Amino acid sequence: MVSNKEAVLRKLVPLLALLVLSLALAHVYGGKQSASTVGGTGSTLVIDPGHGGIDSGAVGIDGTRESDLNLAIALKLRAMAELYGLENTLLRQDDSTLCDSEDYSEHRDLEHRTELTCAALNPVYISIHQNDYPTAQPNGSQVIYAAGEGSQRLGSIMHENLLNILYPKCRRVAEPATKRLYILSRLTCPAVLVECGFVSNMIDLENLKKPAYQTALAAIMMGSYLQYEQNTKRI
Ligand SMILES: [Zn+2]
Repeated sequence: MVSNKEAVLRKLVPLLALLVLSLALAHVYGGKQSASTVGGTGSTLVIDPGHGGIDSGAVGIDGTRESDLNLAIALKLRAMAELYGLENTLLRQDDSTLCDSEDYSEHRDLEHRTELTCAALNPVYISIHQNDYPTAQPNGSQVIYAAGEGSQRLGSIMHENLLNILYPKCRRVAEPATKRLYILSRLTCPAVLVECGFVSNMIDLENLKKPAYQTALAAIMMGSYLQYEQNTKRI
């Protein structure tokens, strides 16, 4: 019989391998460039924690706000990017909207996020969200990718890593974005949206609230970003 500890360790092995790989890649290739860029062309990791402020996004069965989970994961991803010396932009750093007018407008908020992303140098965009469903059963991650060049490749890498490490039984696949998704349908840079888990599923929700689980999600996103950069020969 496998003990709980052994089961956890077994799950952590691929994650640790991914972390070591990311660290090694960042050091080997980052070291050849200026201190805070990856690769000869220099890309910028744009991290977008979905929602914020008056817009909580989905609300979990215990009242947990999606916007808070998105921000917690985004801050950890930002910390890793800083640790590795990678150029990055975090679109919001606290519980606020990105609406630049006094009256909140979702359209203006999304427009502003799009503008900030486009203003970055060679942006690679990762949007962080949580899923929600009317019934409690669905669980696991879902990656949605934009139409721009590289988005599908980045989305596939991200989705495969998330499922392999966190949801090995999940058969979901990465999907192209529909026009309904304002930012993804407008960006031409590599862009993905990661639905980390379902706030409507009790097990997912309990995991998503744990700092260690949030770190695991951030590490997978970082590892996937670096794998993508390596595959596109940017590093
Ligand atoms: Zn959302």
